[in-house]
Amino acid sequence: MAGVWIIAEHRDGDFRKVTFEAASAAKTVADELGAEVVAVVLGKGLKDKCGELGKYGVAKVLYAENDAFEYYTADAYAEAVAALAKEQAPAAIIFGASMQGKDLAGRLAAKLDVGAAVDCTGLAVEGGRLKATRPIYAGKVYADVLLKADPQVVTLRPNVFDVKEAGGDAAVEEVSPAVSEPRVKLEEVVKEAEGKVELTEATIIVSGGRGMKEPDNFKILEELAGVLKAAVGASRSAVDAGWRPHGDQVGQTGKVVTPNCYIACGISGAIQHLAGMGSSKVIVAINKDPDAPIHSKADFSVVADLFDIVPNLTEECKKAG
Ligand SMILES: Cc1cc2nc3c(=O)[nH]c(=O)nc-3n(C[C@H](O)[C@H](O)[C@H](O)COP(=O)(O)OP(=O)(O)OC[C@H]3O[C@@H](n4cnc5c(N)ncnc54)[C@H](O)[C@@H]3O)c2cc1C
Repeated sequence: MAGVWIIAEHRDGDFRKVTFEAASAAKTVADELGAEVVAVVLGKGLKDKCGELGKYGVAKVLYAENDAFEYYTADAYAEAVAALAKEQAPAAIIFGASMQGKDLAGRLAAKLDVGAAVDCTGLAVEGGRLKATRPIYAGKVYADVLLKADPQVVTLRPNVFDVKEAGGDAAVEEVSPAVSEPRVKLEEVVKEAEGKVELTEATIIVSGGRGMKEPDNFKILEELAGVLKAAVGASRSAVDAGWRPHGDQVGQTGKVVTPNCYIACGISGAIQHLAGMGSSKVIVAINKDPDAPIHSKADFSVVADLFDIVPNLTEECKKAG
């Protein structure tokens, strides 16, 4: 059986959590298919790290060292992975539906002339092929997707699939896929503020909407987030008003997040916002309007003024340690 591939995502010399999630999910389906999990790592100076992917079920790593791979670019990654896949014919290529994965999936599938199931929340095997479950119509409906052609390109919604430890070190084989002269030149990498929790990887998100009234008021959310080691998100209204950067936007046209706990403060719960956070494991809504749609989606509803509730919640969380 042809292998099940994952594409590793890394930053600052470390693999990102979506890589371990993809490896763990790939291992589950590969076991059923009687196949091996192979990780493709494109990078610079990462060879010594590759073995650790074995811990998450990867049997073999195809490692390509190249200056062009130090930072992700769609051109270089799609070209290199497509070249390797054409040569080695994997059954499937699975990776995270992170910003990088979203960018890569369509381009890679087009180069391979196959379909792609993106942002999947479920993955199984049916009749020897992958059955991917993905939300459609802004999360109102879930569709089961079977891809007809190999390799089956599938991206997984971050934070949905468990990271499972399975096995020891992976074997590492160096490969050198040819890459063209880049059309894109990376000028600068702007790092996020030290200690800031990345929204799509956060286990807790405290999010604010138009009900925050003004940008300075987000300080109370940042304080709560600091105590909970959470990330701060925002609705599109808060972003459009210039109160928060676009990278903080949660929703259909922002980031899709699946934290263990999403605390929505002064957010009404429009369908486009729910599309981005509706699959959070626990949703807490703080909204003074009892008829706000967010309450019908919430596991815990607080119908009150957020300016009373949030500072008290922060104090109580501090006391609880
Ligand atoms: C094509 C398209 C794409 C979109 N994409 C996105 C997207 O990605 N993400 C997104 O968020 N939106 C998106 N939207 C916009 C979306 O439709 C809503 O307009 C937006 O989500 C509303 O933001 P909000 O909940 O912050 O504001 P509002 O709807 O104005 O809600 C503010 C809420 O705050 C509450 N409130 C006010 N004061 C307080 C207080 N003191 N205490 C407690 N509660 C208070 C109010 O009761 C109200 O429910 C999109 C829209 C379109 C058309």
